[in-house]
Order: sequence, then structure tokens, then C-alpha cells
Amino acid sequence: MTALKDAMQSDRRYYEPKLQTMPLEGLYVLQAQRLARQLDRIWSTPILFFKRKLEAAGLKRADLQGLDALRSIPTTLKAELRKSEEDAPPFGDYRGAPVSAAVRLGASTGTSGRPTLILWTRKDLEVDYAASFRGRWRWGLRPGMSLANAHPFGMNAGGWHFSHGIEGLGVLNIPSGPPVGAQHIDDVLEVWRRLKPDMYRLFGNVATTYSDAARKLGIDPISELNLTTAGDHPSEQYLMASSGLEALPLLGSACDERDGAHLAEDLAIVEVMDRRTGVPCGHGERGNLVVTVLEKDNFLLRYDLEDVVRLNTKACPCGETHRRLFYEGRVRDIVSVDGHEVLPIDVALILYEFPEVSTPSAEYQIVRSKTETAALRVRLEYDPARLNDTAGAARRLGDRFREKLGVTLAIDWVERGTVPRFAYKAARVIDA
Ligand SMILES: [Zn+2]
Repeated sequence: MTALKDAMQSDRRYYEPKLQTMPLEGLYVLQAQRLARQLDRIWSTPILFFKRKLEAAGLKRADLQGLDALRSIPTTLKAELRKSEEDAPPFGDYRGAPVSAAVRLGASTGTSGRPTLILWTRKDLEVDYAASFRGRWRWGLRPGMSLANAHPFGMNAGGWHFSHGIEGLGVLNIPSGPPVGAQHIDDVLEVWRRLKPDMYRLFGNVATTYSDAARKLGIDPISELNLTTAGDHPSEQYLMASSGLEALPLLGSACDERDGAHLAEDLAIVEVMDRRTGVPCGHGERGNLVVTVLEKDNFLLRYDLEDVVRLNTKACPCGETHRRLFYEGRVRDIVSVDGHEVLPIDVALILYEFPEVSTPSAEYQIVRSKTETAALRVRLEYDPARLNDTAGAARRLGDRFREKLGVTLAIDWVERGTVPRFAYKAARVIDA
């Protein structure tokens, strides 16, 4: 908490200036020291899963020296953690701390199979919160301010982490959970009306849901609640990663440059790798997010989160030295069309160039076939009051998709309200 005390004393630009502006050479030395400590623990604790894995790759502790050694370590996928949990139930043998030392449990979403369990010791939580504080500070949150959020508080949601990351900063946290019916919405609106929070953090359609409900009650969302719904442009996705909870807090948030989220590279080693070749991706190239957690008791070594990201390796004018990351989407949401890989964000960014299909929001789903197809099929909502020439719009959109993504677009026009709305994360890809 020294960092918080220091930060409160002067309204400084960075939450932890020394760490966040550390020259890269120093940062790499720190990473190497911290990596060595985690590698030691694999043999000394021991952490059987990783010990087995490294030895199967012909690696001994002595072989692994310096940051370059990382490249020789095989990556780990969620399916392997799942198997470890099945073979040594319930927690598997990949934990870095005894289960009795854990104080919180989380679960992955399970959309790609049986959910895996995440454990945090007190120290693990402190590491995550320390990283969160930096991120929230970048948002402009300061002790004494208030923030309303509608994060879900389930096992696989970030609500607990998010709330502690706010409260630990000295900010008044106003958690409502996602809207669950008219009475709940009215109750939440009443609290917001009385408190007029300084900031909101609402996912997906939640801000719109509340704004619409407020207007029905005769409350002006902007002047009376301080609630704006301007922030749902798809590029907002680039302001923060939305990866698994195993790594999420360490992936940081964007600074005022809004050109990628600054990582916490003193707390994690982040690699971006071509998922087919394993070759590291260069500046701006899309690849899989691979994270090595440096400071937690329960750490993961070269964990491939099966998320698609790209790095911004240019020096940031804001003065923070840690590299920046763009979160592009999930590997399982990749749609292969005519030799091109398309993610929902690619579709969304183009749709938002066309106000006639993106006002007040673009609502769409990509329909993926089992086999690679010649055209990208998109179910797209339209409002006949706003768009009467769908054929013309299809042509304009088609031209832009071909130009920007190199793919042919096939639109299934559907009425407004057809595509399901989500309070948390939208499912933008459906399998035909
Ligand atoms: Zn920056």
C-alpha cells in the first residue's frame, strides 16, 4: 500500500512511476530474476505438472538461464490444465501453492469444455490488485471518486477482482451486478440518481438498457446520472484486454494515447506467437497471447490463453515503458473465409463506418460454416426507418469488406431486435 500512499500524496501521472517508466533494459533484468525464482520453485516446491512437462522436453533447471531460455519451454494450453484437474482432482497438480493457502476460487467460463479452476492466495490477489490500481489510475480514477459498475459476481466473472481493484484505490465502488428485471433497474437508477457517480463501467448493452429505462422514468441519463452511452464503439475493445482471469489484471489498460493497453511487464512476461509456427509475432502482427506470470504463488508458465492479440512495440509518448497490447478476440471466434481469418472486431469496425447500420448500435452475428467458405456470412440488423435500400447498403458494405479484409460479404438482413442482446459479453459468432 506504499504505492497508494505515495500516489495520494501528489496527484501524479502514474500510479507507480518507478516501475511504469522503468527503462526496458532494467525491466528485462527484473523479469529474468523473477522468472528464475519461479523456475526454481518448479523443482523445489515441486510443481509436478510443470516439472514433468519441462523434463519431458529434455529440460533441467540448469538448462534454463536468462530470458532467452523461455523460448525453449513448451507452452501450456487450457486443455492440459483440465486434464491435470481430472487426473488429480479437484485442483490438479499445477498449483504453485498448497490449496490450504488459497483464499479465492474462480472458474473459467467452460465455453471450450469443462471449466478449469483458478485459485488465488492472499499474495496472488495483492499482485492482481497492484496491477489493477495502475490501470484504474490511467482511467483517471483517484481516491475520493465514485464508480458504478454492473460486473457480474459469479465464479467466472471479474466482479470480485474488479471491485477490490476499485476499493483498494480508495474509490467508492457502487456495484449493482447486471440488470435483472424492471424492479432491479429502477432500484439501481434511484441510487445512481442520488449519488451521480463520477464514472461508470458497464458492459455491452447495459448502458443502453439503463439509459432507456431512465428516460422512461423521466430521468435524463446525462445530466441527472452522469451516464453517457457514447462508449460502445468497437475500438473500445482495444482499451483493455478481455482475456482469462488467470492473466487479465496483468494485461493492463490504455493510457490517453489510446493506442493499446500498457502491460504490467514487471509482473508478467507477455509473448505474442503465431499459433501455427510458434514464431514470435512482430509489431502489429496478430498472434496468440502467451503469458508467464512472474509474481504470484499460483503462476502459469508460458500459458497460451488462446486469445488473439497484437503488440504495439513503439515507445509510448506518455512515458510508460511497458509495451502495449491490442486485444483482438478469441481463437475460437476466428472465421476462415477464402484464405483470410476474420474476427468479430474486424466486422464491427467496418459496420461502424456506416451509420445506417450502426445507429444506435451495430447488432450482428457472423454465421460460420463447418468448412471454409468463399463468403463471410453476417446476420445484420437494420431499421427500415433508417435504411430503405438494403441492396445499396449491401453493395457499399461489400466493397468495404473486400477492400479492408479481402473477403466477399453475404448479408442476411434481419429486423431490429432479432440478434440476442447480452449483458456481459456478446456471442458474435454462431455455427451454422
Ligand atoms: Zn502510454
